[in-house]
Order: sequence, then C-alpha cells, then structure tokens
Amino acid sequence: MGADGFRLLEAVHAADAPGWLREIPAVVVLRTVWIKQYHRTVNDGGQEVAWREDKDLPPSRQRICSPYDTDARYATKRGCGWEGYQVHLTETCDDATETGLPHLVTNMATTDATVTDVERTEQIHTGLNRRNLLPHEHIVDAGYTSAELMVGARRDFGITLVGPLRIDNSPQARTGGGFDRTAFTIDRDNQRVTCPQGVQNTIWSTGSERGRESIVVGFPITSCQPCPARPRCTRSTRAGRQLMLRPRDIHDAVERARTEHTTDERKQRYAIRAGVEATIHQAVAVTGIRRSRYTGLPKTRLAHVFAATAINLIRLDAWWTGTPLDRPRTSHLARLDLGLAA
Ligand code: SF4
Repeated sequence: MGADGFRLLEAVHAADAPGWLREIPAVVVLRTVWIKQYHRTVNDGGQEVAWREDKDLPPSRQRICSPYDTDARYATKRGCGWEGYQVHLTETCDDATETGLPHLVTNMATTDATVTDVERTEQIHTGLNRRNLLPHEHIVDAGYTSAELMVGARRDFGITLVGPLRIDNSPQARTGGGFDRTAFTIDRDNQRVTCPQGVQNTIWSTGSERGRESIVVGFPITSCQPCPARPRCTRSTRAGRQLMLRPRDIHDAVERARTEHTTDERKQRYAIRAGVEATIHQAVAVTGIRRSRYTGLPKTRLAHVFAATAINLIRLDAWWTGTPLDRPRTSHLARLDLGLAA
C-alpha cells in the first residue's frame, strides 16, 4: 500500500475522524477494499498493516475485486478465472418451419461472476413469465438443473425442465460396488428401509440439509458393526449406516428424469441444446459481450439486453431476406480433395 493510501486509511480510522470523511463514496469503496484485503495490527510499538492470507479473505461474493467497479466479482470455472459478470442466455429452439420464426433470444440474465447457474434458473423462468415468453419445455445443461427446480418449474410455471441431473456423488456411488441409495429397498408409506443384508432401519427422521427438506434414515450399530458387507456400505466404525433421502415428489422426479434421460428419444431431443453454443458464439463475435463496456451491474445488464436485441434483428433480417446466417464451410479434407482434382 502506498504512503498516501496508508495515511488516508489512518485518517479514516482515527477516533476523531469526521463523519463526512467516512461517507465520501470513494473513501467508502477504498475503505471496504482495504478492510477486505489487509488487516491492521495495533501494538505498543505502533501499528502494522499486512495483506490478509488467503484463508482470512472473505468469500469472492463479498469481495470487491476492483475499486473502479464495485459490482464486479472474481470467479473461476473449469480452471479459468475472470473478474466481472456472467450472462445466461435463453433462446427459442422450436422447429422454425412450424413457428414461421427464426430462433430468437428471449432472455439475457446478467449476474456478477460468482452467481452459479443453478441459482439463476428460477429467476430466468420468472423473467420469461413476466413477458409471456415461457416455453413448454426448457432445455438446459446440467448446471441449471436440480430435482427441486424440476418439480418447482412444473408446479409454478408449467414448464418441463429438461437436462441431465448431477450424478450421485456419495462415496458409496463413487466406489464401484458400494451400496448407494439404489441398493436399499424403500417403503415410504411405512417408513421402512431395508438394506442389501436384509436389515431394517431404526431411525426415520425428517429435517433439512442445506435448506432442503430431507429424511435421515439410520441403521442399528449392532447390525452394522459385525456386518460382512460393511466395507461396501459405510466407513463409520462407531455408528450404523445413515442414508439421506429426498421427499417423495423430489425422489420421483429424480428417478423419472434419470430414466427419461437415457432414452434415445430424449437424447435426440436434448441434442438441440447445443444450438445455444452458436448463439453464444454470435453474441461474443458480433456484439463483443466477452468484455463489458460499462462499469456496474445495471449498465452491463442493459448492454447485454442491447446485444440480444442486435442478435434478434440480425436473425430477423436474415430470415426475411433469405440470407444464410453462416458462411458455407469446406473442411480441410474437402479442400485438399478439390485441390487434387484441379
Ligand atoms: S453395514 Fe448395516 S446397513 Fe450396510 S449392509 Fe451391513 S447391516 Fe446393512
């Protein structure tokens, strides 16, 4: 930190610092950045200011990553890090010959970079609903799905949310041959669960896990401890196996979605989702949304709406004038073939 910055920090923190000094917007931002990046230690010999260690830093969602744009946040995805925002794009994908319209962008949802995809699904549906643009079916990638969202989308918006659900990540499912949830026989009406060794549960209690309703099922330690199959079932040596179940409607939705997603018909239907990648490419290449031209979330959001409008105008113009949107491509092999023929 420079000497001027340090002196200003001292002045702001001084007990007799005037209130107006702390309220100047630039001082508020700098003070927030400093507090989140540095810590000050006061001792007999004076005071010391040092960088916070990684473990002491607040989470990315709360950390201002640039004093020039206090809405921007730092995030990483698949090993790639960036500062700023992210945009979630929705477009129509019906058969254009039936609708008489090209595929058009219907929603741009802009958030700071730390908001996960799954946190946006419901807001995207709310936005589409407000503009009477809800689809019957919303095809999304795995990042936007969860069993709760599938049930909620159907219940609240009449939408079928189509997308792969995340795989069971329990240790038993990850290790081949382990007893995951599917190895147990579940009788919800009688709150009875039978394990692969024929033992029945002694605990059935409802609660919540990370804000989601769940049921905890427990098996008796007296049966689990001497059980020959224990290595495949639980790592605990002091307690019996515990199993986490979802409420019935959520459980059924998961089972249905997983079964449907393996059918050829659903795989074919789902393949259409890849089309949005071309739209993202168009947005990046034509409207330059990879870099925000503005600071602040509201202006960036507006810029993304302008980008969507531009894409739609280009597509409508191409549709009405019969202009192909993409130039015909010839593969390297085909070009070589043509070269040899000449
Ligand atoms: S460890 Fe317990 S729950 Fe697991 S198979 Fe054995 S008896 Fe059943």
